[in-house]
Amino acid sequence: MLDKVKHLGDEARAAIAQCRSLDALRTLETSLFGRKGSLTLLLKAIKDVAPQDKKAFGQGVNALKEELGAALAQQKSALLALKAEQGVDFDVTLPGSSACKGSQHPTLRMMNDLNESFASLGFEIYEGPEISSEAYCFDSLNFPADHPARESMDTFWLRGCEDKKGAERLSLRPHLTGASVRYMQTHKPPFRFVYPGRVARNESTDAGHERAFFQYEALIVDRQVPFSSGRLLVDTILETIFGRKVKTRMRAGFFPFVEPGFEIDMQCLVCDGKGCSVCKRVGWLEMMPGGPPHPNVFRAGGLDPAIWQGFYINIGLDRLVMMRYGIDDIRLLHSTDLRFLRQFA
Ligand SMILES: [Zn+2]
Repeated sequence: MLDKVKHLGDEARAAIAQCRSLDALRTLETSLFGRKGSLTLLLKAIKDVAPQDKKAFGQGVNALKEELGAALAQQKSALLALKAEQGVDFDVTLPGSSACKGSQHPTLRMMNDLNESFASLGFEIYEGPEISSEAYCFDSLNFPADHPARESMDTFWLRGCEDKKGAERLSLRPHLTGASVRYMQTHKPPFRFVYPGRVARNESTDAGHERAFFQYEALIVDRQVPFSSGRLLVDTILETIFGRKVKTRMRAGFFPFVEPGFEIDMQCLVCDGKGCSVCKRVGWLEMMPGGPPHPNVFRAGGLDPAIWQGFYINIGLDRLVMMRYGIDDIRLLHSTDLRFLRQFA
């Protein structure tokens, strides 16, 4: 029987000394001192030991009980001290598991870079709602009543709104520009602000088109906004994003919300103008429409077009991301494919 006491003592001492967490120590204590603990069972067994061995056995078990009790208390205070020092309560000797490193999605990174660039130029960062209305997306932006973009071919109208008009005809926003009217209605000019966000179009997808994509719009409103300051803005932004001069060209373009409207193209950086699937073999990409807000847009925003001038640019964010990283298919950006995303970690 004394062998049992010695054996338990050896095992318990080693186990206590190796214990690295308070939880494990509590479990160990229960396994020794609990109702069915190994030490408790030995104490209970004293009464069954033969009379001539009882004294030695009883003394041995009780001595072990005291020793182990003290050893548990000592280990506990050592672990508490360690915890206070390191702020941890786990076995610090266990091998670690490698942590999965997260990273910003390339589109979000681009958005943040643009926000930073524009903020340094004194622009406010503004956000509008993703669900908008015909009133904001078309009526207030000078879209004629029969403009094809209003039709369900291009715009995702919310179910039940198809037959309604104006503010009651709700849609996923097909572009960001409606948010600028919201801003004008609630802010006093002069102001300059940008608004990043996701937009949705009901169109078929290919390497250059997605049903949901990101735009980034900027608007300056002041008493005098020369046309050249808009152009300078575009070049500055593109240089900031790509870290080098980017070739751009301006073409006259018609957009209902600007007068005069123009379209800015940049040379395709994937193929350096030689032609590829991203630029549809032409070497140039439409990057952004822009121009001074149409007088009707100013009026919708509650501003007098005789007093205020402005300049819009509306950047296709996904295309900039594709140019920046040499991505040749816009659908990858929304694919949630980790093999693709991990390249940007
Ligand atoms: Zn190209």
